[in-house]
Amino acid sequence: NTSSTKIEESMIELEELAKAAGGNVLGSIIQNRDNYDVAYYLGKGKAEEIKEYANNMQANLIVFNEELSGAQIRNLEEIIGLDVIDRTALILDIFAKRALSREGKLQVELAQYKYRLPRLIGVGKEMSRLGGGIGTKGPGEKKLETDKRHIRERIYDIQRELKEIKKNREIQRSKRLKSNLPIVALVGYTNSGKSTLLNKLIQSHKEYSSDKDVFVKDMLFATLDVSLRKAILPSNKEYLITDTVGFVSDLPHYLVEAFKATLEEVSYADLLLHVVDSSNEHFNLQIDTTLGVLKEIGAADKPMIYVFNKADKVNYELDYKPKDEYVFISAKTGYNNEQLLQKIESHINSNLKKVKLLIP
Ligand code: GDP
Repeated sequence: NTSSTKIEESMIELEELAKAAGGNVLGSIIQNRDNYDVAYYLGKGKAEEIKEYANNMQANLIVFNEELSGAQIRNLEEIIGLDVIDRTALILDIFAKRALSREGKLQVELAQYKYRLPRLIGVGKEMSRLGGGIGTKGPGEKKLETDKRHIRERIYDIQRELKEIKKNREIQRSKRLKSNLPIVALVGYTNSGKSTLLNKLIQSHKEYSSDKDVFVKDMLFATLDVSLRKAILPSNKEYLITDTVGFVSDLPHYLVEAFKATLEEVSYADLLLHVVDSSNEHFNLQIDTTLGVLKEIGAADKPMIYVFNKADKVNYELDYKPKDEYVFISAKTGYNNEQLLQKIESHINSNLKKVKLLIP
């Protein structure tokens, strides 16, 4: 039955996300919808069952696969006696660790505050016990208001800075078009190794470059540009490289909005490097998810190289032949780095030729 397959796939993804966040997954429970109770998200009996299960497993955190309200989290924590988070909080945590650019970081922070604001209820667990919640002025009330005000102020500041960055980016974009440097965007499922590869590719900039001015030029570039880094090919040809966050399935709607701007860069890219964690047994699901996101932002038809990463962890031939070009690398050990650079170079060259043909 398709709906139960969908739930299973979604649970597999949740486990992968928990691992990506540095967690050690001890087990999972699926809830029967008939026993649903609004106050607990699941039936009270189920919550008790989870408590026992978690105790046996010696777990110290419970992750729910759907979005929970503040009251639900508090009630569940009270029964289970452990910290409870939901899928969105988990995703936000991963993105917070992964975002590289100032803009990406701000977007994650903004999403975190927007997530937290409606979930602030009382200070710890006192409020509900003291006044039963509604209409009563518990001792936590004042602090709660101050917290909320601080968050709203911070949200306002972040939004202003993001607007500034966006304006700047449009200016940069026109400069960039003039500079004519090709743009390469790293896309791919969370935890596939994009940041690791980005750092590697930027490093080759330093290795290959003999230009003494390069550092100064880079500094200038760094202050102007928020999301693009300069990298260089063995032939000394320069290109720009950009990072992205947001490749997870079933991303809550307001997170999609939050990451649109980072993803927007992808639609200006000349070439996509689709990074895949080949050591993950569900890598084809992850490829589909990434392709789905690319389709949503209208970037599905861009030239693409599949970069099957973490080759150092895989000792078998992958049963996956993409129609586009592909290469097996290890961003960690540097295995096949040269081959990847050559592929990037030949793509960039053939694209530039096309551009020249278009200009009479
Ligand atoms: P991102 O979420 O796509 O940016 O992924 P990261 O670059 O943060 O990498 C996720 C995890 O995979 C990190 O723990 C990396 O150290 C690890 N990793 C990245 N590339 C490789 C690789 O080639 N081999 C191995 N074994 N681990 C890697």
